[in-house]
Amino acid sequence: MTTPPVTREAAAALDAGSPLAGTRDRFRLPDGVVYLDGNSLGATATGVAARLAEVVEHEWQEGLIDSWNAVPNGADAWMGLPARVAARIARLVGAGPDDVHVGDSTTVSLFKTMVAARRMRPGRSVLVLEPGTFPTDGYVAAGVADLLGLELRWCDPADPAAVVDDDVALLSLTHVDFRTGAMFDLPAVTAAAHEKGALVQWDLCHSVGAVPVDLTAAGADFAVGCTYKYLNGGPGSPAFTWVSPRHQPALRQPITGWMGHARPFAMTRDYQPRDGIGRLASGTPPVLALSALDAALDAFDGVEMSDVRTVSLSLTDLFIRLLDERCGLGPVTPREHARRGSQVSFRHPQAYGIVQALNARGVIADFRDPDIARFGFAPLYVRHVDVHDAVGQLAAVLEHDEQLDPAYAERNWVT
Ligand SMILES: *Cc1c(COP(=O)(O)O)cnc(C)c1O
Repeated sequence: MTTPPVTREAAAALDAGSPLAGTRDRFRLPDGVVYLDGNSLGATATGVAARLAEVVEHEWQEGLIDSWNAVPNGADAWMGLPARVAARIARLVGAGPDDVHVGDSTTVSLFKTMVAARRMRPGRSVLVLEPGTFPTDGYVAAGVADLLGLELRWCDPADPAAVVDDDVALLSLTHVDFRTGAMFDLPAVTAAAHEKGALVQWDLCHSVGAVPVDLTAAGADFAVGCTYKYLNGGPGSPAFTWVSPRHQPALRQPITGWMGHARPFAMTRDYQPRDGIGRLASGTPPVLALSALDAALDAFDGVEMSDVRTVSLSLTDLFIRLLDERCGLGPVTPREHARRGSQVSFRHPQAYGIVQALNARGVIADFRDPDIARFGFAPLYVRHVDVHDAVGQLAAVLEHDEQLDPAYAERNWVT
């Protein structure tokens, strides 16, 4: 018996029955575009523009410096904004509301936690990463190794804890691979590295808002993640950092600025860290960016990550099936649910041309060097009909060899 082809009506029926059927209305998406790049830059949530106008025209323009303590419209003071936004993110990654810091970039957060981790394991001088990790993670680790005289060691992604021994201070991994969408078993890897006495850090850039994570249950040590991908905080929105509450009292991070001080406005000579996660702060919080992120997080109100996962797997299952049936392409992304994040990628010698030709047809995906076409499925606003339409366009691109257009021979700066 052959399975019937997936019609657009069948895809629409899946959308109608989705546990996230209403959440797309929480976003503003351009007409005629299928946006499958929310894993690179999330879409604009409905309330963001109004919130930014409010912050500029009232809180800043009228409230001026008073808004640090209290804002004219009665919302939280600016000083309280980082902690309030952090608590909203905490819920999505299984963290306590007081155990997340928001500020900095993921890159700077990685620097702080890697240095802090090494200080907690002074007798161990090796940092372990995965060779295919996101570049910034590797670059920061190399910088920290250089600064502190440590050694970098690369693990086999098939068994990352295998190279962890008595010399390893920290195993730092990206939970979902940015190229392939492959996902590590976070609790199992954490437990295996802990058995050998190492600390474990998870980079959740491609997980938060797309895949359920329970940092507390896994007993992990550190986590970082960006907020402009599946959390839709806007270009360059501040990253978050989680430190297990058991490590916070002794945590010593290297950028000891005044905002991490117990009493910043006492203006004392000597540094004294705040209690708790607040000691991760360094400088003045980015209020405009935090306000946009805060408004964007409204899209997650009442949303359970288990429903997000159900929809994510349904979307990626459908995409993989149609990719096989209509284009004869197999994914590099694992077919096994437990090993798949919320994106699907395939390899193709003309992957860059394919992505550009799709773009010209209104389907936005992206390319990752050397030969990966990458499609992100943000479950809050991507629908099954979008999956259906995107594969239809992909089949048309391939049928007409549009990927060979000489216009796509030169790559843009951002791919
Ligand atoms: C997107 C991403 C980053 C980005 O870091 P920035 O400091 O925000 O530029 C870092 N790590 C991973 C795994 C990412 O996917």
